[in-house]
Amino acid sequence: MGKVIGIDLGTTNSVVAAFTGRRPSVVESFAGERTMPSMVSFLEDGKRAIGHAAMKCQVTNPEHTIYSIKRFMGRRHSEVDREEKLVPYEVVGKPQEFVQVRIGKKLYTPQQVSALILQELKAQAEGFLGEPVDGAVITVPAYFNDAQRQATKDAGEIAGLQVKRIINEPTAAALAYGLDGQESRRIVIFDFGGGTFDLSALEIRGGDFKVIGVHGNTHLGGDDFDQRIIDIVADDYARNHRFDIREHPMALQRLKQAAQHAKVELSQREVANISLPFITVDGNGPKHLDYNLTKERFEAVCSDLFDDTRKACQELIWEAGGLKDVEVVLVGGSTRMPKIQEIACEVFKTDRLNKSLNPDEVVALGAAKLGGVIQGDLHNVNLMDVVSHSMGVETAGGGMSKIVAKNTPIPTSVRRVYSTPSNNQTSVPINVLEGESKEAKENRTLGLFQLKGIRRAPAGVPQIEVEFAIDADGILQVKATDKDTGKSQEIVIQGGSGLERGAKERMRRDTQEQAPKQPERAAGDLRQHAEKVLDDMKDWLEHNGEMMAQRKRIELGTVLTKLQKAVAKNNESAIRTNLKKLDELAKVHKKAG
Ligand code: AMP
Repeated sequence: MGKVIGIDLGTTNSVVAAFTGRRPSVVESFAGERTMPSMVSFLEDGKRAIGHAAMKCQVTNPEHTIYSIKRFMGRRHSEVDREEKLVPYEVVGKPQEFVQVRIGKKLYTPQQVSALILQELKAQAEGFLGEPVDGAVITVPAYFNDAQRQATKDAGEIAGLQVKRIINEPTAAALAYGLDGQESRRIVIFDFGGGTFDLSALEIRGGDFKVIGVHGNTHLGGDDFDQRIIDIVADDYARNHRFDIREHPMALQRLKQAAQHAKVELSQREVANISLPFITVDGNGPKHLDYNLTKERFEAVCSDLFDDTRKACQELIWEAGGLKDVEVVLVGGSTRMPKIQEIACEVFKTDRLNKSLNPDEVVALGAAKLGGVIQGDLHNVNLMDVVSHSMGVETAGGGMSKIVAKNTPIPTSVRRVYSTPSNNQTSVPINVLEGESKEAKENRTLGLFQLKGIRRAPAGVPQIEVEFAIDADGILQVKATDKDTGKSQEIVIQGGSGLERGAKERMRRDTQEQAPKQPERAAGDLRQHAEKVLDDMKDWLEHNGEMMAQRKRIELGTVLTKLQKAVAKNNESAIRTNLKKLDELAKVHKKAG
């Protein structure tokens, strides 16, 4: 069997890893990057920039640069009120329709956008491994519902990947963590990323992983903290200058990046400075923004977000039947916030916070490990995941009859027998629901179908067997059978993500056809590498330049200028020549040093 890679398709960043030489390793891009921004920028010439290249376009092309698409996967428009406000691109669709994003005159589904990211990761992995990639294990937040999982699977298929498994991010993290084969214990995976907060309690015994509880908040992530900073800074600026940055996409984009930097800085310092020169121009000339944000103020304006974090932890403890003094494994960039770590210790009554794994890479490493199991390179790992939401059907009185309860280990199959509520009924509607409420209308409809051809009989006599089968990816298939006639009706909750098979195939073809060809990709990688070198060298010169002899400094400056011009003109051979010259200069400098 060919290679099966592991992909952490994140809200903010994505990581790809592969199982090689008996262990999972993170795939490095040509430019040496280990994570890739989950971003796609649609350029004027019809091309697309993906990852770091897209990030560069964000300030100049905000409305056509898509990020946080994960927040929209498998979601209807009525479900994304909050998320929509956080992004500068246009989200469209009627309230009950699955959302799409508009880029110019074209509409894209979140699956298509995610597929572009996945396709790029696949290409990077193929470059790294030097062989084609067969399939992938893709991770999703444990709290993703059926439609969101299905949409993720669709995205993988559109990208030309065989999606071997969809696995919960926290479970993947535990899998990576269990590599050391330590003794049996209970752990909590505390996964706080850019867009979601995911909690899982697991029991690890040897190579066995058993999930004993999952909880999370799909509306809580690092972006929400950034937004709080944006709001206080923009409000302050509006008060002083009568100019609302939030109404100007380019200025807002700059503030967004600065807010995120400030948040990251506050994880280590008491004060962060936000400085944005030339944020706007008025009759009196250019205006600058300069704001000092203290950690105290930051934590005060985010207090409800911290409360939501506490609440989700408490729900997990309740669901797992009590958890105390467990080991808490930190995953996701937002766990670097000191206040979040404090909350984890406080709620789980523990001082055992495990930070030994790189929180950005651990999920992909776990997925790659499962890839290793699938491709037959790894044994003695037995993964037991659970259903993240209860599932059932609507009853005649408008209630929800649970068929599979939340936290049931998967794969699973459960049968229940129901009857007709009226005399001589020849068909029954089956409303397949997902959610925890006893009221059908408060839960989410996954699919609706009719079982027809029931023999006429008094109410309560026909025996209708409903079977729910959930596969290892957490995807549901429902079958209803009239036991008297043997007539049955079956649905895979497909199109549950909004995409029919034909549409998916069409998107797959489009995505493949428009993928950059190998030489084009190599040129893109080279340009990206050169841009990174330029950034690093400029930074280095700024801080260490005076240590160099003046003649050397001038020589270096000349090559850098030439390289910059070559990048701007996209002149591949000049980029190569000047990179080589830089390399030689560096060698001479090292020897001299
Ligand atoms: P992830 O989705 O796991 O890649 O997490 C990304 C989120 O983590 C973003 O919201 C980042 O701003 C946030 N993040 C990364 N590093 C830090 C840090 N040192 N302090 C606070 N937040 C961080």
